[in-house]
Amino acid sequence: MKLPFAEPFKIKMVENIKRTTKEERERYIKENYYNLFNLKSNMVFIDLLTDSGTGAMSDHQWSELMKGDESYAGSRSYYKLKEAIKDVLGFDYFLPTHQGRAAENVLFSVLVKEGDIIPGNSHFDTTKGHIEFRKGRAVDCTIDEGFDPDSDYPFKGNVDLKKLEKVFKENPIEKIPFVIITITNNTGGGQPVSLENIKAVSELCKKYGVKLFIDGARFAENAYFIKKREKAYENKSIREIVREIFSYADGMTMSSKKDAIVNMGGFIAMRDPELFRKASVFNIMFEGFVTYGGMNGRDMAALARGLYEGTEFDYLEARIRQVEYLGEKLKEYGVPILKPVGGHAVFLDAKRFFPHIPQSEYPAQLLGVELYIEGGVRGVEIGTILADRDPITREERYPKLELLRLAIPRRVYTDNHMNYVAVAAANVLERRDKIKRGFKIIEEAPIMRHFTVKLERL
Ligand SMILES: *Cc1c(COP(=O)(O)O)cnc(C)c1O
Repeated sequence: MKLPFAEPFKIKMVENIKRTTKEERERYIKENYYNLFNLKSNMVFIDLLTDSGTGAMSDHQWSELMKGDESYAGSRSYYKLKEAIKDVLGFDYFLPTHQGRAAENVLFSVLVKEGDIIPGNSHFDTTKGHIEFRKGRAVDCTIDEGFDPDSDYPFKGNVDLKKLEKVFKENPIEKIPFVIITITNNTGGGQPVSLENIKAVSELCKKYGVKLFIDGARFAENAYFIKKREKAYENKSIREIVREIFSYADGMTMSSKKDAIVNMGGFIAMRDPELFRKASVFNIMFEGFVTYGGMNGRDMAALARGLYEGTEFDYLEARIRQVEYLGEKLKEYGVPILKPVGGHAVFLDAKRFFPHIPQSEYPAQLLGVELYIEGGVRGVEIGTILADRDPITREERYPKLELLRLAIPRRVYTDNHMNYVAVAAANVLERRDKIKRGFKIIEEAPIMRHFTVKLERL
């Protein structure tokens, strides 16, 4: 018999999670106005709100915490991280920051000015926020397949070269300080970008004299997809693929809370000493001195180790296989999901799940609430509530898709947990006809309403 798959790790420490009854959960969610962000974590059994900062560190990473050097300047742990960034990613210069958005804040303080245009592939919301805060404009040049929920295209995160060149041609080139490619792309839950595409974008950028940066939050998961789906790279190691990806970029921003498997941290890495010098000024102002920039010495040490562990093939296989496993189970039970399943999350399609609930009653939120009541599973709405009102007309902005995202923390849950989640979703599906109405909003903030919105059942 062929030996079945098994995780390349065993569990040294456990964290108990609390079971609750359906009656308790009905009460908890009602008391919290049907907003999943308001729940205390011990009201949740399986927490799939995010994969950010929720991963499990290894024994080696925990031991690095003990070895951390907390010197203000010139910390040993800083040099350990500097070496890991050079070795794994290939950049000579870097600045630590407290998380990914802080890296954006520092880097964009140097590079983005009012009226600038920053093309990319569906910028992450904090990336877009930091561009728009500086009165710049983020232009989405993702390929059309990326927006088609029925497309099985293997690299739905790719940049459309024609769209990008059009932006280059139609704008004064000095208004385009850089292009940013986000790997994996968040659209559809971590859709990868091919190496062929990254290389082609880099060549186009060089032709027009525009810099290329990579938002690398999930660079290792992206490298795994390249190895699996891009013929030319099937025999390359993950590390070789990672080095090639970044060889095409002038620099990167990183949320270490994702693929570097730490609970907090980020950095900017770059080649240009002049950019490093300019960014250092903002780093000192916003984050901390250049050799710690918002991080503890011990956290830099654990992060250095995480860069190596996060780029091991066996780990990545276990990680991405588990996300696919949940997707397969859901499909088996007839639960509608977006395809192909991405690297870090499965998206449930609430419009197809609740065809009888109009968007004005927030079907994706309804699905999130019902899944919580059914099994104590917490996901996050990516639908009308998140899309928010038009800032001028104050009308609801109905997005094309109503999704419930189930993001899987790294090395945290077992396949039994995935089975449990899938059955909980199947049970909601079975009783969906009894769920006749959605919600109405009774209180909301003027911006970013999803965090604090209060809802009432109709
Ligand atoms: C999480 C994330 C960020 C922001 O990082 P934080 O650590 O949450 O501040 C930026 N880009 C991408 C693609 C991300 O996933």
